[in-house]
Amino acid sequence: MVKETGSVSVNTENIFPIIKKWLYSDKDIFLREIISNAVDATEKHKRLVSLGVTSGDKSEYRIDVRVSKKKKTIEVSDNGIGMTADEVKRYINEIAFSGASEFLEKYKDDKDDSGRIIGHFGLGFYSAFMVSDQVEIDTLSYQEGAQPVSWTSDGGTSYEMDEGTRARRGTTITMHISDDEKDLLDEYKIREIIMKYCSFMPYGIYLENVDEKKPKKDKEEQAEEKPLNNTSPLYVKNPGDCTEEEYKQFYKETFFDFNDPLFWIHLNMDYPFKLKGILYFPKLKNEFELNEGRIKLYYNQVYVADNIKEVIPEFLLLLKGVIDCPDLPLNVSRSFLQNDGYVQKISSNITRKVADKLKTLYNKERENYTKYWDDINPFVKYGCMREEKFYDRVKDIVIYKTISGNYLTQEEYLSQNKDKHDGLVYYVSDENQQAHYIKLFKDMGLDAIIMPNVIDNHFMQFLEMKNHDVRFKRIDAELASTLKGEEIAADDKDASSEYSVLNDLFKEATGNEKLKMKLENIKSENISAIILQSEESRRMKEMAKMYNGMNFPMQEEDETLVLNRKNKVIDNLIQMSKDNNKRELAVIMAAHVYDMAVLGNKQLDAERINKIIERSNIILGKITGSEGDSTDISKE
Ligand code: ADP
Repeated sequence: MVKETGSVSVNTENIFPIIKKWLYSDKDIFLREIISNAVDATEKHKRLVSLGVTSGDKSEYRIDVRVSKKKKTIEVSDNGIGMTADEVKRYINEIAFSGASEFLEKYKDDKDDSGRIIGHFGLGFYSAFMVSDQVEIDTLSYQEGAQPVSWTSDGGTSYEMDEGTRARRGTTITMHISDDEKDLLDEYKIREIIMKYCSFMPYGIYLENVDEKKPKKDKEEQAEEKPLNNTSPLYVKNPGDCTEEEYKQFYKETFFDFNDPLFWIHLNMDYPFKLKGILYFPKLKNEFELNEGRIKLYYNQVYVADNIKEVIPEFLLLLKGVIDCPDLPLNVSRSFLQNDGYVQKISSNITRKVADKLKTLYNKERENYTKYWDDINPFVKYGCMREEKFYDRVKDIVIYKTISGNYLTQEEYLSQNKDKHDGLVYYVSDENQQAHYIKLFKDMGLDAIIMPNVIDNHFMQFLEMKNHDVRFKRIDAELASTLKGEEIAADDKDASSEYSVLNDLFKEATGNEKLKMKLENIKSENISAIILQSEESRRMKEMAKMYNGMNFPMQEEDETLVLNRKNKVIDNLIQMSKDNNKRELAVIMAAHVYDMAVLGNKQLDAERINKIIERSNIILGKITGSEGDSTDISKE
């Protein structure tokens, strides 16, 4: 052929600086684009062989990436179909360059917002100029009698084409890396980029640092060489052909997690769109926080990006997984994806698969489901709150751990406790702090669910909103009717005079004129007093705390001190406070009774604890008579 020079047919002078700047944030994709082209060329050759169009040879398909600091080059070489001179003119001079200009034309308004285009797919070959001063193509077509072609372009606006020297079928792209990008010439950097973007590509990718070139490898050595990538990642296989061990192994390799996943969902859809992938439910690292998951999105085994929430419902981003969807339009902006009905269909299909998997586990392996529940419940609850459809699908399989050690659905809990407290779900938010109440509940054969996480508060409010017939009350919010003995009649004169004596006494003892107090018959006689906190005002307070600084009106404490009329100490206090000699001691004891009740309800600060200890010593002193005056404080 005759040597030919030319300028690229479209007006590219002004494209280049913009693309360079715009894609700066993830310029690493140039390698993905160049290697993807090599994969495509290989795929095409393989197909031609299988169609009998060409015979091919016995050599393995492979892609070689060679990096040299000395020469300042990165080479990507394939043994795919190659190109004839005509094809170079057509595909490179016209298509690749016009492709780039088209790409830019479409998105030039977005240029300050490079993250908005999902995959940057469509930029292709041209992206090599993002990092190179000069790019060379050496290619030989598979066609019989084809002539090798060499093509060079400086800066991507004009080119030179000539007869080449390449003797073997395929294409080598040589990128002369610009000084600004010389970091790319590091072998480890290139390895990292390949591992990120190309780790599941379907043909072996081999990396070589040519500066350290050892004597040429012989055939046998080459055969033992291992590619960097996994050419048949587990998710492309048929679910029926995968073993449990393989799933776990794939998880560990892909997410660098030493722990086994709990379980997984292998997605393999052909209709209404093609989608493959595996979603893993990881073990929770921290029981109080949601996991940060990671869903890697692929396009025909080419990595696109992590956590694209336009395609994958946001709550699923708590999981870990890979999704490969070759039908996705990726050369579009995110806002397009968001409003695309097709993409929404993909998203709701994935949601349905996840819900189905959970239901199958619940129905067929309830024991396992229960075992996993502690780890997966934040995910399920979050999903319910984020996605109406997900909630509808899983609402009947949400279970709760109870203080009796069982796992029950809301319906099971309600029906088991129907006679004791209809439509009311008691819950524990902190098993230590509420231990006193838990014991009380257990003693009386009552049950409560355990809801310790931040998300649980939101979830209960969400459920109350969904279902007005069910209320959630913390175990210390009100006395369950089962705990109460016979009701004190409103016209019980004795009771009302006892009440006023005790009310005066406790107001004095606590120094709180506004103390809310109640006298009740509590079945368990050992309990002297208990603090109750109204559910509503406690929730408001918690909210105020969360939005602290947002001018949320601070709530007053809304506690009620409930004294047990059945308890001996309370009975004694009534007598003692009427007796002038014992009044002083009654005040000390009342303060103590109050503090004990508070101690069972919440964590106290140091000052308060010191006070209790001091007072305990005084009381002990009185009992043992070391204070001189041996007042008999216990008539029992
Ligand atoms: P796209 O890959 O999206 O078509 P590119 O700009 O990346 O756009 O490439 C343009 C064309 O150049 C490709 O469609 C292909 O025909 C040709 N091409 C690029 N790289 C290679 C290669 N390594 N081997 C054979 N042909 C190639």
